[in-house]
Amino acid sequence: MSDKPHQNLAVIGHVDHGKSTMVGRLLYETGSVPEHVIEQHKEEAEEKGKGGFEFAYVMDNLAEERERGVTIDIAHQEFDTDDYYFTIVDCPGHRDFVKNMITGASQADNAVLVVAADDGVAPQTREHVFLARTLGIDELIVAVNKMDVVDYKEDTYKQVVSDVQDLLKQVQFNTEDASFIPTSAFEGDNVSEASENTPWYDGETLLEALNSLPEPQPPTDAPLRLPIQDVYTISGIGTVPVGRIETGTMNTGDNVSFQPSDVGGEVKTIEMHHEEVPSAEPGDNVGFNVRGIGKDDIRRGDVCGPADEPPTVAETFTAQVVVMQHPSVITAGYTPVFHAHTAQVACTIESIDKKMDPASGEVAEENPDFIQSGDAAVVTVRPQKPLSIEPSSEIPELGSFAVRDMGQTIAAGKVLDVNE
Ligand code: GDP
Repeated sequence: MSDKPHQNLAVIGHVDHGKSTMVGRLLYETGSVPEHVIEQHKEEAEEKGKGGFEFAYVMDNLAEERERGVTIDIAHQEFDTDDYYFTIVDCPGHRDFVKNMITGASQADNAVLVVAADDGVAPQTREHVFLARTLGIDELIVAVNKMDVVDYKEDTYKQVVSDVQDLLKQVQFNTEDASFIPTSAFEGDNVSEASENTPWYDGETLLEALNSLPEPQPPTDAPLRLPIQDVYTISGIGTVPVGRIETGTMNTGDNVSFQPSDVGGEVKTIEMHHEEVPSAEPGDNVGFNVRGIGKDDIRRGDVCGPADEPPTVAETFTAQVVVMQHPSVITAGYTPVFHAHTAQVACTIESIDKKMDPASGEVAEENPDFIQSGDAAVVTVRPQKPLSIEPSSEIPELGSFAVRDMGQTIAAGKVLDVNE
């Protein structure tokens, strides 16, 4: 951990445009790959009589991590610049990228959009930019990647920049909040050092652009919200719910409430990194013990908050959604699974209230009969089982969700209003 301000960074873009390679390059060039990993791979390579291309070792290691990442929600990759400590909030290339972007342990403050120069704006480029905008990403750094493949041609770069700018305008992203850099993740051009291959470019390198991002907003002064990830029984202690504090603080002696299970008690002990601590704050992963709470009283998906400001349980809620990929149309009555923080609950879309024009953000149609891929809409949702969720304007950390059906993420959104 570091004293520098933290930035949660999403790396987004179309498949194969170079996201994983770029993350590998960033970790490698900032010296964030553990020495023993590099040494181990070096030895293996030497035994096999291969030359020392260290970057390739990094990529191997990332691939391994990614494989392990299938069973955990998020694979954390971390590096720092002069001014910030960065956490990549999702493992690029992960199948559940979008779901993780929303329900993952940490939401992104800013994003790097990777667009391959030889392919240009592609379907997932659009989708991810649309989502980034819906979910409140502040700034985008656009890496026009694979410049080596297009012979570092300035014209090609300019064309891609212009296409991406058009896309940003379409989704109402302030193009002044986007910077553009010609890169090759593979060769390392303009990542940490200005490249000689792009003499026509005199702007920032990717690391400089990352370092000059604005500082993320301080955590909201919202009350404690701690979504429960798991519940363990530990001998000598008892029931130990674990999870990550999204907002607020937890102190021993606090009176807490778990919702929607609707039980509560006094916090006896809090443990972090196998050590007992008197209090914990946003970002901390904790295990704790609450007087009188048994293993069957609470479950994954509960949210823990102060007894006098308990987490909201929604009877219904209204939300702004973006439909990403649905094979047909979505009509009122549709009941997919909503993933919000650590909860997964079947929810019925009771009504489709408004359809929005993605280009202008204005209401395009009141009470449409259906919505489909590419549409943005305001809907009213009824959870089929109690669900704790909060208006995004009050507690953004607990106000967004992904909608899953048929094994994929079909929509994403944020909560506008909750009816308790
Ligand atoms: P992702 O799906 O966006 O994570 O893409 P990957 O990082 O897995 O890259 C897809 C393929 O493109 C891999 O074979 C990479 O080696 C290659 N690649 C990525 N970046 C570059 C680049 O800047 N130049 C070249 N020539 N190839 C690249």
